[in-house]
Amino acid sequence: MFTAGLTAAHVGLLELLDDRERQRVDRAVPEADRARFLLGAALLRTVAGAMLDLPAEAVAVDRTCSQCGRWHGRPRLPGTALEMSVSHSGAIVTVAVLPGGGRVGVDVERTGDRPVREVVAWTIAEAQFKAGGGPGLTIHRLPPPVVPRHVLTLATNRAAATVEVVDATTLLPPSTS
Ligand SMILES: [Zn+2]
Repeated sequence: MFTAGLTAAHVGLLELLDDRERQRVDRAVPEADRARFLLGAALLRTVAGAMLDLPAEAVAVDRTCSQCGRWHGRPRLPGTALEMSVSHSGAIVTVAVLPGGGRVGVDVERTGDRPVREVVAWTIAEAQFKAGGGPGLTIHRLPPPVVPRHVLTLATNRAAATVEVVDATTLLPPSTS
C-alpha cells in the first residue's frame, strides 16, 4: 500500500496522465479535489508502472463505470494481474495494489471533528464495499502515515500477515517548477 501527502501534487504530474484523466483534473472543483485526483491517478500509474516495468504514462488504465459506462469507475488494469484501489481524503492519497489478483478495497478518511470510532466504522464499510463486499474479507486497520488525523483501512480476500504501508512521495517525479 502506497500513500502520499497532498503536498506531493504538482502540475508536472499531469504528464503521467492520459487525456481523459487530464480532462477530469480540469473539471474537478474545488481545487483540493483536483489535486487529490491528480495525485491519485499519478500514484496509481507510478506504482503500476514500477511493477509492470513500464513508464507510468504507458500504463493502460480503464476507468469505465460498471453502472453507467462513464469514465469515473474503479480503475482497472486490463491485461495485467494487478488489482488496485485508490482513495483520497483530507491531505492523504492512498493506492493499494494486490499483485496476482484477488479483491482489494482501500479507504482513507480525515477524522476532522468526528469521533474516531465513527470514522473507523465508515472506512471499514467503504473498504469492504470497494473490495466487492460479501464474506471472506479481512480488514486491516493501518496507522495513518505521513499526516496524522486520518484513518486508513484496507479490505482484501487475500490472507496476509502484514500489510506494508510505503510513503510513495519519493517514487513520484519531483516538481521542476
Ligand atoms: Zn457511473
